[in-house]
Amino acid sequence: MGKEQLRLVLGIIGPIIFSVGIFAPVLSVPFGENMSYFQVAGTAECVIIGVLSGISIALTNMRMYKFLWLTGFASLGVVIYTFVSLQSRVGELGLLGQLTQPTWGWGVFVLGILCVTTAAVLRTEDEIWGEEKQAAVKKEKPTFDPSKMMKKCPQCAEEVKFEAKVCRFCGHAFNADEVNASLEDAKQQFQEDEEARKKSEERLQQIRERRGW
Ligand SMILES: [Zn+2]
Repeated sequence: MGKEQLRLVLGIIGPIIFSVGIFAPVLSVPFGENMSYFQVAGTAECVIIGVLSGISIALTNMRMYKFLWLTGFASLGVVIYTFVSLQSRVGELGLLGQLTQPTWGWGVFVLGILCVTTAAVLRTEDEIWGEEKQAAVKKEKPTFDPSKMMKKCPQCAEEVKFEAKVCRFCGHAFNADEVNASLEDAKQQFQEDEEARKKSEERLQQIRERRGW
């Protein structure tokens, strides 16, 4: 199973598991039946968990896995809230409270939420590849560097630095204004080339995406 499929499965199964948790026994009571989350929590909590489960499945369907963090943690928050308030209510019961115990139902929530958050963290090859490529593009971004450019001296025909105002071979003096003007021209040319390069790269990328490369 690829990461993308695993994500899809976890993003669907996780919410189903934690919404089923509503009906799982979360409290063992002396002299009675175990109580489910549905019985110990308020209606609002159950509805919120149900809605969060639905949103999680919808997000997975839309492949918006990053947002599963939000629904996962929101669900965890609701469950923790119920657990803590239940513990304090049980504490008030005194001796009878000491005989009640939390049961495996809480584990169902934890398992479901774990699936959902795992789906949120898993990155597919495509995403990793995309991020690496973006980083590479940023790093490779060429800058205008006239110190690496050369020009030919009209007098002795030797190659000298583009910025040179005097030829280091024959002492030919270049016109300072002309040197500055041609530097400006070269800079502009560089920027135009750079824009053209970017555009052709974008076109290539669009073609790649269309063909699914
Ligand atoms: Zn020269």
